[in-house]
Amino acid sequence: MTLTVIILKDVSMSENTTRFVIQPPVAVAAPIKGSDKLFPVRRVYCIGRNYAAHAVEMGHDPDREPPFFFQKNPDNLDFSGVFPYPEKTSDVHHEIEMVVALKKGGTNISKETALDHVYGYAVGLDMTRRDLQGEMKKMGRPWEIGKAFERSAPMGPIVPATESGHPSAGEVKLTVNGNVRQTGDLNQLIWNIPEMISYLSAYFELAPGDLIFTGTPSGVAAIIKGDEMVCHVDGFDDFVVTVE
Ligand code: MN
Repeated sequence: MTLTVIILKDVSMSENTTRFVIQPPVAVAAPIKGSDKLFPVRRVYCIGRNYAAHAVEMGHDPDREPPFFFQKNPDNLDFSGVFPYPEKTSDVHHEIEMVVALKKGGTNISKETALDHVYGYAVGLDMTRRDLQGEMKKMGRPWEIGKAFERSAPMGPIVPATESGHPSAGEVKLTVNGNVRQTGDLNQLIWNIPEMISYLSAYFELAPGDLIFTGTPSGVAAIIKGDEMVCHVDGFDDFVVTVE
């Protein structure tokens, strides 16, 4: 399955374009399964170490510490099914993750009402320049150089929750060239989806259009040019990404 990259011009600003001193940036929009409608993206939040086995493989304690988040840029998203091997790295890792798309925002959202804020779910990849991230970690510096690079967030189409329900269990699996690399289950999330939304909303004002990458199970590893990654989450279509 190949999806084309979809980028929308911001039509709401079209009347005022003469006031911009340069061309205004384009808005990013995600495809929706079985529809020609689009989901406009505002922010992309990502949670770190949200499966115990992955925390351990990265050298950390699997105990339930408070969650932590970083961000990717909306225009790092890519819906094409192609991942171009990035520059300045020789150790790019796959991280398969369930992605949550919000239709409603707010602050201090309760766990009990958090799922009312969800539009739908998608299968995504938090591609990571692990060597660069490792250097930043060592120096106590921010992670953007390892995480928020061009096309670092491949993502399949969003499935509305009206169709998928709100999955809290189900296998998460990534294969590379047919070999299983990552396996886990949504029921192993250290911080589940309502908890994540609630926690994030205490620190940030969430809004419609926000995405949350919910963390990756263990088995993260390097890819090379020519690899085919098949991202599977129970109940969703497989999302296939080839490395070029
Ligand atoms: Mn991740």
